[in-house]
Order: sequence, then C-alpha cells, then structure tokens
Amino acid sequence: ANHLISRLRAASMGHETRNFATFPARASMTFGELFAGAERNAAALVAMGVQPGDRVAVQVEKTIEAIQLYLGTVMAGGVFLPLNTAYTTPEVAYFLGDASPRVVVCDPAREGDIAEVAGDARVVTLDGKGLGSLTDAVVGRGGFDPVPRGPDDLAAILYTSGTTGRSKGAMLSHANLASNSEMLRDYWQFTDQDVLIHALPIFHTHGLFVATNVALLAGARLVFLKGFNADEILEAMPRATALMGVPTFYTRLLADPRLTREQAANMRLFISGSAPLLVDTHEEWEARTGHRILERYGMTETNMSTSNPYDGERRAGTVGFPLPGVEARIMAGDKEVPTGETGVLHVRGANVFQGYWQMPEKTAEELLPDGWFITGDMARMDEDGYVTIVGREKDLVITGGFNVYPKEVESLIDDLPGVLESAVIGVPHPDFGEAVVAVVVPTGEGTSAEAVKAALSGQLAKFKQPKEVILLDALPRNTMGKVQKKALREHYAGLFA
Ligand code: ATP
Ligand code: MG
Repeated sequence: ANHLISRLRAASMGHETRNFATFPARASMTFGELFAGAERNAAALVAMGVQPGDRVAVQVEKTIEAIQLYLGTVMAGGVFLPLNTAYTTPEVAYFLGDASPRVVVCDPAREGDIAEVAGDARVVTLDGKGLGSLTDAVVGRGGFDPVPRGPDDLAAILYTSGTTGRSKGAMLSHANLASNSEMLRDYWQFTDQDVLIHALPIFHTHGLFVATNVALLAGARLVFLKGFNADEILEAMPRATALMGVPTFYTRLLADPRLTREQAANMRLFISGSAPLLVDTHEEWEARTGHRILERYGMTETNMSTSNPYDGERRAGTVGFPLPGVEARIMAGDKEVPTGETGVLHVRGANVFQGYWQMPEKTAEELLPDGWFITGDMARMDEDGYVTIVGREKDLVITGGFNVYPKEVESLIDDLPGVLESAVIGVPHPDFGEAVVAVVVPTGEGTSAEAVKAALSGQLAKFKQPKEVILLDALPRNTMGKVQKKALREHYAGLFA
C-alpha cells in the first residue's frame, strides 16, 4: 500500500459523492473527483518518467488542481516539492539545482525562464485556473493504482521559510505526515461535519499539511480560497466551522467591522500559528467573537509540536502543551533547565523529519542520534506544562556580554499607549558587540522614539534598553506573517558604524 495515500483516502471511502471543496466562483468538487484527478496526475507523472523517490518541484498558484498534483505525486511514489510563488527565477534555480527534480511544474507565464534553470527536468505548466500543459497531459488518463510506499519513504521535501538564512530542504516521510495529521485531527476534533476555511498558501506546511491533510483525514469539507480575502472569509463563516490562519489573518479580520459574534456563531474553532499571536489580538478576538483562538506551534521540520488544548484553557501568549506523541524539553547546552526558565526547545517524536536534503552536517548538528531535534527556538515551560516561545536563538541579542531576549523588550513596548507592535533586534556596535535596537510601529499619532525610550527606562535593566528606537509604518513580513528580522538587521547594520 501507499502509506500516506491510503490513510488520506480512508475517511472518504464510500462517500465519493460528498463535496470536498467549494469555491467562491465555481462549482464544488467531490472527494471522488478529487482522487480521480489525483490518479490521472499520477498516471501522467509516471508517463513523464517519474520513478519512486523522484522529486516533482511545483511553483504554481493555489488551485484545487495543485492539490491533486500533490496527491498524484505521492500516489506515483514521488516526492512533492512545493515552492513559494514569490520566489524569483534565480531563487528557483537554487532549489532546482539543490533538489534535481524529474519534473518541474510552473506557471505558463514563467515557462521560458524556468526551463532555462531546470536542467534535465521536464517542465510542464499549470495556471491559476488549473489549466496548462500538465492538464493536457492529465486529461483522458485512466485510473491508477498507487505505487506502494512504506512509512519511512519520503513523501515531500519542504523548504523552510528562509527567515534566518538560506532555506533548507526538510525531508518528510509518509509516516511523518500521516501520523501528525491524524493526531491533529483527533486533538482538534475534526470530523466529517466540519467545513474548514482554507485561505492559506499551499507551498507551506500550514496550508498543505496541517489544513489539507487534516481535512482529508477527517472527511471534512474545505471552503477553498485563493488566499486571504476578508470578504470571502466573512461570507463563508456562517456555513463553516473552522479557520486556520496566521496571526495577520486575525488582525486583518479584527479591522473589519463585519466581524461580529453573530457572523462567527456557526464557527467552532479558530487556529493560529506560523508566527506569534499577540496577546492583544487573542483578547480582542474573544471580545468580538466570543471565541478563544487556539494557538499552536510547529515548523517545517517537525510538523506540529505543541498546541493549546481543545477542551481546557487556551492560554494567550503560549503555544500550549507538547502534542500527544511529541516529547519536548528545554535545554541549556546538554542540560535541561529548571521549570519556568528559558532555554532552547528540543522536540522528539514521529513528527520529526528525516534530515535536511543533502546537508548531512547540518542534519547532524540539529538532529541528535537519539532522535531529539534542536528547534533553534528559545522557549520556557511553566508548572502547568504550557510552552511559551520566547523567540529564535538566532535573534538573541548579546550586548556587552549580556543576553537580551527580544520578546521581553517587545512585550513591554507593545503594551505602551500608541504602540501597535514592535521588533527588537541586535545591531553591530563598536563597544558592545551588539546594541539593542527597537523598531516600533505606532498606532497613529501620539508616540515618539523619545517617549518609548523614556517609558522603558524605569522598567528594564540598562543593558536591555534600546540604544535606538526607530518608528516605522509596518514591520517587514513574508507571506506567512513572519517578521523578517534578518532584513531589519541588514537594513540597520550601519546604525552605529
Ligand atoms: P528558516 O528555518 O529557513 O529560517 P522558518 O524557521 O521561519 O525559516 P518555518 O519552518 O516556516 O521556517 O517556520 C518555523 C518557525 O516559525 C518556528 O521555528 C518558530 O520560530 C515560528 N513559529 C511557528 N509557529 C509559531 C508560534 N505559534 N509562535 C511563535 N513562533 C512560531
Ligand atoms: Mg526554521
């Protein structure tokens, strides 16, 4: 059997005529149509020469056909390799050179450029309407018996977001994906009665594996949207039950007066992840809708590792408990820190990836022989077992030999009147090595760099206080809502030079 496909398909067996996806402007698609299309994709890929273990690299707009391509690739025994649609041709060239795929699927508008950097790979196209030379190769094909694949065979290589450096290819096995999504389905109580609003991109673990796989495993339905669109999401809420989003989804929806308790009355679950959710957002959301957002934490390499509980207290500012089957520990070097203290978060379990594609040294540094994975995130765990992510180890500022955790400073700044949000970074400094710099987004008039500095002076040790406060209209973010601190550090590198 094909480990992942047989599981993804099980829930809808015998219910092929039920809808899997509905679209704003198009008819719906049933489970039967979804998988029949996936089989045709698998047959077409095999005809193009895809053998078990071959990579199929995909940089296309979000369509249900792209989901069928994902399922078809795995059915064909291939390894699905999605790429962010924002990547330029030189960036794509790096990924293709690194992953040496058999087939590359891209948007027709970019076919010429991509073909130049695709080496020996076959290049086919799929556009935002689900049409292209791939579609031509797919239509008219018959059924397909999934290629047998075991739990440890690779199903996908997903590149990390590149927030801290060059993206790394995380090798994910059939069992990594299946086990995590099955556990999440149960933990978050997804059933075939659910209708999930799917507005996330499908080149990232959140939209591809968490949202799509969980829905398939539950036999749940999707309201399948191209991307974040407040009109479409609000319109869908009365007939939907769940939303998975990044924090910016929630802040943007809060800015819309149509978000009300009535509008959200049919919903049972709002999930947030991929970047930290501000406590303010959590509280405002509850005040407006009556729902407490469920925040969870994961990464490309591990799928989901912690989550706030479905039943029980969803604690704002925390990412909840280690999920069933996932162990977590908080370390300083090779020693566990006492409860409540900050250290580096390690996780272990069936969710943890197989290593970085073609990076044995990096893999050996971060994936220990006994299965623990060093996440690179700083965290603490309180007495009740709730985990709080304090930030990334690489974002830690070391100034004059003292450690400054950006989140501690950011939290105080965010609480000041007139401040929307902030990012604290370390910038090279001739005396201190690094200096603390705060980039602050004001809510409007009424705050100034001096006011922020003055407000912090009584609250923080001198070495933690920003040497410079810079006001900006918005923080630089990527499509997953992650603040790009690397870009900020580069931009302000010369501040004290
Ligand atoms: P790269 O590894 O290439 O630098 P990245 O770490 O941003 O990029 P992803 O795997 O997409 O790539 O993101 C995982 C990271 O996102 C986590 O390590 C963590 O820092 C952050 N993250 C995810 N969920 C949360 C959350 N709920 N709260 C805080 N941070 C989160
Ligand atoms: Mg990372």
